[in-house]
Amino acid sequence: QAKAAGRNGIALFESAMLVAAEEALTLERDLATAVERGELALHLQLQVDSDERPVGAEALLRWRRGGVTPVGPDVFIPLAESTGLIVPIGAWVLREACLAWHELALAGHAMPLSINVSPRQFGDPGFVAGVRATLLETGVSPHDIMLEVTEGLLVDDLEQTAVNMRELAALGVRFSIDDFGTGYSNLAYLSKMPLHELKIDRSLISGLPGDANAVAIVHSILAMASHLGLRVMAEGIETAAQARFLASHGAPCMQGYLFCRPMSVAQLLSLLDARLEAPESLEALPA
Ligand code: C2E
Ligand code: MG
Ligand code: MG
Ligand code: MG
Repeated sequence: QAKAAGRNGIALFESAMLVAAEEALTLERDLATAVERGELALHLQLQVDSDERPVGAEALLRWRRGGVTPVGPDVFIPLAESTGLIVPIGAWVLREACLAWHELALAGHAMPLSINVSPRQFGDPGFVAGVRATLLETGVSPHDIMLEVTEGLLVDDLEQTAVNMRELAALGVRFSIDDFGTGYSNLAYLSKMPLHELKIDRSLISGLPGDANAVAIVHSILAMASHLGLRVMAEGIETAAQARFLASHGAPCMQGYLFCRPMSVAQLLSLLDARLEAPESLEALPA
């Protein structure tokens, strides 16, 4: 009897796996055509300094599957990465971000845009040429974009990564380490790579100001960044207490729901316009 139950259990397990595999396949198929079907959109999240003045914005990809159902980047970016779809999707993101840069600049709100780049994209032999071509085509200066890469990419110390990074840095493209403080203890890459910024991960920020360990780690990241001449961007700021802590400890730049949600370029434009007219009216605006 126990044996039979066990076998049933396995059969159930196998059919659940089958369903999951089929679902993954259709998700992949849908993602493959998302660009051409116009289902992807770029949202922007404003980044501010300690006086809440805009210093830039991060481009965050959004997908409405079938034009309707939102799928989170935490779901589809890893899928795009593992299938290689991230290469064409990433190219689309970069171009779209450059067009957004012009929209902002045209309205008098020129600011550098941060763009997430995943390891597979970065390792692609055509990556540097693609970035260069897109910048030329759209007329955006390399100084106006910052590429966000993750620690894993740098710690792996792959030859192609270092070469690509140096070539892009030579053009004037800047680099930021995303999700900093979560992954690795080997920080040798910090002095070897042409970096401009560290983004302190939300998981550390969420411990501020109460958690003594988070406080200690954030303190040392700020000190280390200042010794290395790197800018710090604290991400995932949700409370005024977190913002006050960071501002009073010399963190220059912040990003989080407290200041601004990710939103469409059009929404960001109207928010920035309204802010110019009435600097204190930020809270009154829809996010
Ligand atoms: P990330 O680059 O670390 O982006 C920050 C994430 O935190 C975003 O999630 C953003 O919406 C969210 N966030 C911002 N402020 C707050 C806050 O105050 N509280 C909380 N709880 N969350 C906040 P999102 O948009 O879901 O993106 C998730 C991840 O997907 C990104 O993490 C990034 O790794 C990846 N991603 C998004 N767009 C792209 C893209 O165009 N290309 C690549 N390669 N990856 C992307
Ligand atoms: Mg990022
Ligand atoms: Mg991050
Ligand atoms: Mg991330």
